[in-house]
Amino acid sequence: MSSVIISSNRAPDTASPSESRVPAESRRRAISSRIYLPALSIVAVAIVLVAIGLSGRWGGSGFAASMTNQRVVVVGPVTVGILLLFMVVERLRPAQRRAFFARGYRQDVLYTVLNATLVVPLVVALSLSFAEVARHSLPWIVVPRFEFLPRWLVIALIFVAMDACNWTAHLANHRVRMLWRFHELHHSQEDMSVLTVFRTHPLIHVSYLIALIPGIVLVANGAVTTTLLVVYAAVVAFEHSNTNLSFGPLNRIFCSPNYHRIHHRVEGRQDVNLGFALTIWDQLSGRAVFPTKETIRIDTGLPGRPLAVEQSAARARHLSVLVAQLLGPFRPLEVREENVGDRSAFGSFNDTSTSAPVEVGARESLHETARGGTR
Ligand SMILES: [Zn+2]
Ligand SMILES: [Zn+2]
Repeated sequence: MSSVIISSNRAPDTASPSESRVPAESRRRAISSRIYLPALSIVAVAIVLVAIGLSGRWGGSGFAASMTNQRVVVVGPVTVGILLLFMVVERLRPAQRRAFFARGYRQDVLYTVLNATLVVPLVVALSLSFAEVARHSLPWIVVPRFEFLPRWLVIALIFVAMDACNWTAHLANHRVRMLWRFHELHHSQEDMSVLTVFRTHPLIHVSYLIALIPGIVLVANGAVTTTLLVVYAAVVAFEHSNTNLSFGPLNRIFCSPNYHRIHHRVEGRQDVNLGFALTIWDQLSGRAVFPTKETIRIDTGLPGRPLAVEQSAARARHLSVLVAQLLGPFRPLEVREENVGDRSAFGSFNDTSTSAPVEVGARESLHETARGGTR
């Protein structure tokens, strides 16, 4: 009966289906010209996860205690001590000689502060919620306690599996355009240093939540320790340092600064050397490029500077660049491509062919010459 009433009150529909689609289409185009809509999906996932965590009281885990642990990993006394030690090594064995307070270093100090303050609670909220959702929806992934498994082996297994998950998420960051929009901030650094490890978009942590899965699977055999996370963070920080150091025969197993710098190179493919701690995932997938004398002093950054960087203007303007970098993923593609030019690396986003050698010119003209693959 209600359907009769509704249909009798309806105004006659004079527009054809194709005509009625036109305003919706132009509305979508108008919004797309102001904002890159796919970037909102990562915001939505983060909001949903935080809401689930809040409503479920973080699965009974203590939020404050988890915050303390995460802060210890990011800026605890041991981490700060390790970072300071790496900074001394950077001065003693630099890959590239730079001023003590180079612009890139100052910008990455801002990202360090951002991580220590706002990113820590965000990562804790996302992690606790993700773990709770995984435990509830896939309870079978938690394996029982194996009495025969020594604790050191459990830690080693988590380390290796976590590294494999991080590698997979990193590959997705380079292959999925929406994720790349968030990840390119990390690649925009032209003055790499140990603090570049903090130069990440806060929302990119959503894509790395899968690295929690090994810890969830093996939780009955022992929780992931803060020590393991501090060691892992130190390894990842060190490979970003401006250090000309190799690990000798261990170069084939662990990612050194010289190895990871190739991943950040401004010229050529950047979807190589994706490893966080171990090179084996790159070797197994044919993406490992081992350092040579020529690659040690290689320039880093993004061809054509599609994202605002502190090195581009006469003055560094750190805060306004920071805001522009954090809003970068939401900029519409059209605006970005106009800024970079037709031959931008982003234009050839899915081109995985190896880049031809190019003349090393001024950075400002790189977008004219560089043929990046995916990064
Ligand atoms: Zn990196
Ligand atoms: Zn990358």
